[in-house]
Amino acid sequence: MRNLWGNFKNKLAYWMQGRYGNDELNNALYITFIVLWVITLITRKPIFYWIGLVALGYSLYRSFSRDHLKRSNERLWFLKKLEQIKKLPKQWKQRWEQRNTHKFYRCKQCGVTIRVPKGKGQIEITCPKCGHKFIERT
Ligand SMILES: [Zn+2]
Repeated sequence: MRNLWGNFKNKLAYWMQGRYGNDELNNALYITFIVLWVITLITRKPIFYWIGLVALGYSLYRSFSRDHLKRSNERLWFLKKLEQIKKLPKQWKQRWEQRNTHKFYRCKQCGVTIRVPKGKGQIEITCPKCGHKFIERT
């Protein structure tokens, strides 16, 4: 029995050779699946379960994938998004504290947030990142 298990482990290790394995994005997908499964149990709406299965299937696909470059690019994209999301509460707090003195606009071209002082009337705003110009009332 012990030998059989060892044999199975060897075969599995051989089969997993060259495959991508696990990373932070896969962990997030597993957690998504579990959360959606719990939501399904509470709401009794199977749609959440199906979305969860898609997340689970995608994470399995990523684990067994041999395209390491694509998988690591996905991982980097995910980690970047995660960093942005982690910064959000601080940004919201800052905006709330400065709501009487400044106005915040989003550049329609590159999506960057621009802070301008309030009470200057109609002004032309130039995006510091991409140079896109637009007119707003402050
Ligand atoms: Zn811009």
